[in-house]
Amino acid sequence: MTISVTGTADLRFGTNSYLVEDEDTKDAAIIDANLEPQQMVRLVRDRGVNVKAILLTHTDVDHIAGLPELIAAIGPVPVAVHDAEKQVVIQGKPLRRQFPVGSPMVAVTDSLVEGKPYRAGSLSFDVLHTPGHSPGGVSLKIGDVIFTGDALFAGSIGRSDFDNSNGDALLEGIRSKLLVLPDETIAYSGHGPATTIGEERRSNPFLA
Ligand SMILES: [Zn+2]
Repeated sequence: MTISVTGTADLRFGTNSYLVEDEDTKDAAIIDANLEPQQMVRLVRDRGVNVKAILLTHTDVDHIAGLPELIAAIGPVPVAVHDAEKQVVIQGKPLRRQFPVGSPMVAVTDSLVEGKPYRAGSLSFDVLHTPGHSPGGVSLKIGDVIFTGDALFAGSIGRSDFDNSNGDALLEGIRSKLLVLPDETIAYSGHGPATTIGEERRSNPFLA
């Protein structure tokens, strides 16, 4: 299996969405739905891939705002999310008390469960529960690539000052589940550039 990853970022929050593609089968999955879904729709069409699912690292609004437009364009694929945040996309229940904005609702959801691989066509993602920024935050690993959402960034970590955040859980999850991966593992996060697990273990000031 040859995996390729292409990212798009929106201008407003610099939130990343990723297209993950199995080059052998043309099956693909989308990680997160930022505020400029038209970029992702164009990418899907340019690559000629079949999107099998949309996986959410968590449900802050900048990571899910593009869902309705994405689903309208690519078809009613399942949206996979951790159970701790499922109500955000099923009922439109805001994730944060501080930001009582309505969330986009979707019809078909799957559960992302720690330790249970999530299959999207020929792609299979390992699910690592990395809460702390939000209760249902997950990191998604495929081959030597991991998507870390807003848990781990290049040179930083996610915010944990919200009501439903937990700074200790965030650090514990990063240390016990992400930093134990091989040095060369490429980490694609929710904001900013890609990095590697080795680089973050050596130089991330929040993990010293
Ligand atoms: Zn974010």
